[in-house]
Amino acid sequence: MSIAENYRRLREEIPDHVTIVLAAKTRTAAEVSEAIEAGATDVGHNYVQEAESMHDELGNLASRVRWHMIGHLQKNKINKVLPVVDTIQTVDSIVAAEAIDKRVEAAGKSTVDILIEINSGGEVSKSGLGADYDAVEQVARGVATLPHLRLCGLMTMGPFLDDPEDMRPYFRTTKGIFERLREKMIPRTNIQTLSMGMSDSYRVAIEEGGTMVRLGTIVFGPRSYA
Ligand SMILES: *Cc1c(COP(=O)(O)O)cnc(C)c1O
Repeated sequence: MSIAENYRRLREEIPDHVTIVLAAKTRTAAEVSEAIEAGATDVGHNYVQEAESMHDELGNLASRVRWHMIGHLQKNKINKVLPVVDTIQTVDSIVAAEAIDKRVEAAGKSTVDILIEINSGGEVSKSGLGADYDAVEQVARGVATLPHLRLCGLMTMGPFLDDPEDMRPYFRTTKGIFERLREKMIPRTNIQTLSMGMSDSYRVAIEEGGTMVRLGTIVFGPRSYA
């Protein structure tokens, strides 16, 4: 099946309240434009360099979709990424949030949307904040005080496990933190987005309350690297 057919089939299958973010790493601008022409609304990048060049190559088409940073963001790349993204999904500390906040205006924007990344599997190899509610609330309250950031929710990867069913507990834990945080109604936040689930696991993630899935392989086919 073509990229366009894959996207349309997934959009039919996935409930309307769940946003599909295309995970575009290693894909060409032609591949991503095919998905946008088929109706894709959101595109995610892991690497700042890829986000920048794809933004340039897509030209007018780029402004038809929302752009997300879904990879770990190094401090020295913040200035470059801000002009080309609407949401940064990988904030995991107050220090990181402050570093972004300070640079938003210079990038010609008033605000950028933020998700706090939760390392729900507690893996040393992954970034993200541990799945400890109090620590997450503390970072959330910190982000909420920063004038150029708008906290919109949480993101998690979870461990890579062969059986997506085994990822359910990690998604459930993240959803629990999300709900508790939302109930706090922290001023200046808009906590509505729970970004979890990839090609193998999106069904389980949606069952567990995810409102945003990040899909690469299932739309574009296997990657040759990364
Ligand atoms: C690559 C990637 C995805 C999508 O992975 P697939 O298995 O190809 O769907 C989702 N989220 C992040 C952060 C990624 O890096």
